[in-house]
Amino acid sequence: MVSTVSVRAAAKINLHLGVGAVRDDGFHPLDTVYQAISLYDDVTLTGAVVPSLELECADYIDAGDVPIGGGNIAFRALEVIRARTGRHGHEAVEILKSIPVAGGMAGGSADAAATLLACDHLWGTGLGREELHSLAAELGADVPFALMGGTAVGTGRGDALSPALAQGTFHWVLALSEAGLSTPEVYAELDRHRERHVNDIAPAPEQPTVDIEVLQALRAGDPHQLAEYLHNDLQAPALHLEPGLARTLEAGEKAGALAGIVSGSGPTVAFLVADADAALELQVELSAGRHTVIRATGPVHGARVVAG
Ligand code: ATP
Repeated sequence: MVSTVSVRAAAKINLHLGVGAVRDDGFHPLDTVYQAISLYDDVTLTGAVVPSLELECADYIDAGDVPIGGGNIAFRALEVIRARTGRHGHEAVEILKSIPVAGGMAGGSADAAATLLACDHLWGTGLGREELHSLAAELGADVPFALMGGTAVGTGRGDALSPALAQGTFHWVLALSEAGLSTPEVYAELDRHRERHVNDIAPAPEQPTVDIEVLQALRAGDPHQLAEYLHNDLQAPALHLEPGLARTLEAGEKAGALAGIVSGSGPTVAFLVADADAALELQVELSAGRHTVIRATGPVHGARVVAG
């Protein structure tokens, strides 16, 4: 039996994010295309006498933004998997964080997925993929994708997943923001925007659908084609809440990106470029303009055990 397990889980971006009309219960039906990219959090669990959490963050992350008590989603993941397995005891949790916090890249979800997988391995409970998926869905809409990785279409709350065929590697340049955006606030702003413009925009669909062109571009492995069809319904409300993001988008596109898109609920902006050289050039250019910039590629694997 192992006593320590480390799991690595990736950030995501949404290549397409269609948000349907809000229902009476506040639920927004989604149709989205996720891609896991090479920016990771590592979660290490060790059996312990008392629970604890240690956090180590990349220099562009403010550790103060991450709850270290029961509010941390890693602890919620521990509770959920304990309830399912009937397992008692405590764990020491270490999180090595490189995914921006509240950046629209599902960093918390990655930590939750990593914690579930690490527990399963540490305790030898052998929960199958389906059981882990159902626990993940209890923790949040993006958590099942963090387990799965690759490129996938998500419907429902984003948690009903089917893998999408993608050829080759796509190159991304990420412009980070200092302050995060709250996902519920961005959805609320979208609802207000739709209400304000009820007479001049088409009504939001009850069930949104992914543009077929996105899936074709992924199958072809063609970044130029994909750039034409990146789409995010949350981009307009995110720009409304953070008007400075429009300048970031413009700066990246002027500097040679094929396209830029707000990642999920933002405020990270993801630029798609043609290849690794173009990514480096764009990184240099945006960094000179005082942006914090990271390069990443996708698709990459979902959560996996890296030690233990
Ligand atoms: P998504 O794209 O899934 O909407 P996000 O990437 O915008 O999420 P997260 O980084 O997941 O946002 O964080 C959202 C909030 O969750 C944070 O503001 C933070 O207070 C809280 N949180 C709880 N646990 C964690 C964790 N392990 N890592 C990051 N944030 C966490």
